[in-house]
Amino acid sequence: MVVVVCDSVFEEHHTGSGHPESPARVRAVREGVEESDKTWTYHEAQGCSMEKLIAVHPPHYVEQVRRFSSAGRSLAEDTTLCKNSYDVALKAVGTALMLGDMACRGQNGFAALRPPGHHACSEKGMGFCLFNNIAVLAEDMVSRGLRPAVVDIDVHHGNGTQEIFYDRGDLFYLSFHQHPFYPGGGVESERGQADGEGATLNLPLPAGSGWNILEPLWQAKALPALEEFAPDILLVSVGFDAHRDDPLGGLKLSDNDFLELASGLRMFAEEHCENRVVALLEGGYNTDTLRRLVPGFVYELCRK
Ligand SMILES: [Zn+2]
Repeated sequence: MVVVVCDSVFEEHHTGSGHPESPARVRAVREGVEESDKTWTYHEAQGCSMEKLIAVHPPHYVEQVRRFSSAGRSLAEDTTLCKNSYDVALKAVGTALMLGDMACRGQNGFAALRPPGHHACSEKGMGFCLFNNIAVLAEDMVSRGLRPAVVDIDVHHGNGTQEIFYDRGDLFYLSFHQHPFYPGGGVESERGQADGEGATLNLPLPAGSGWNILEPLWQAKALPALEEFAPDILLVSVGFDAHRDDPLGGLKLSDNDFLELASGLRMFAEEHCENRVVALLEGGYNTDTLRRLVPGFVYELCRK
């Protein structure tokens, strides 16, 4: 059984007409999950403890998001807020924390949450992201004495997640992404600093790269680095915008490539992490792809 959250509360964050990061994304995932032949344990979204949120985002930034949300102001040109956005963003963080808790108790899961999180830095929202859901979750796992690895398979570099943990050696950040591309960083020489030296691994890929380019790097660099770090839980930032049909991304992964990634990560977690996996939705802007691919991907990644 795999836990899944595709709560309609995540449709209440409105980004404006024509915005690619739209409520329709959550609806597409929910329809796909409901139509699939897999067995799911459905859970509702959950609220968030302020104490856990401010372990990553300082109170003045949390307050800024609340004020901008109530005023309907944007945090950045592409990062639009409506009056519900603050409450929905708290639910996204809370749901991530709930899934971490469930994974520690033996049930892996996925949340089709929004707003997404991996571009959110500790004091700055950007790239459609307000709070960094996976970073708050990772910090919570560390506070429980675990060693998490955040694996970011979105087409964009998770600059926020990297920034938050750049000088930390108690968790690992691994990302492949299109480069050069938004938000700009994520080159291979960015490997962490101070205690975090070597705890960040970036695999930048030129536009047009497919599995034939990624797979050898994944085998030669990503999996050995993960193995060396020896995480005891995998936290996956899942962006379906690395799919060849995505309107924003320029990588060329197919459905089958995503399933290969999922099964490889699950096998890694089985072998090294007591099979503990949490997956959170980041990007992915083709709703047909989300509806068709997410259920199989999530099941392959999270099943026991
Ligand atoms: Zn993305």
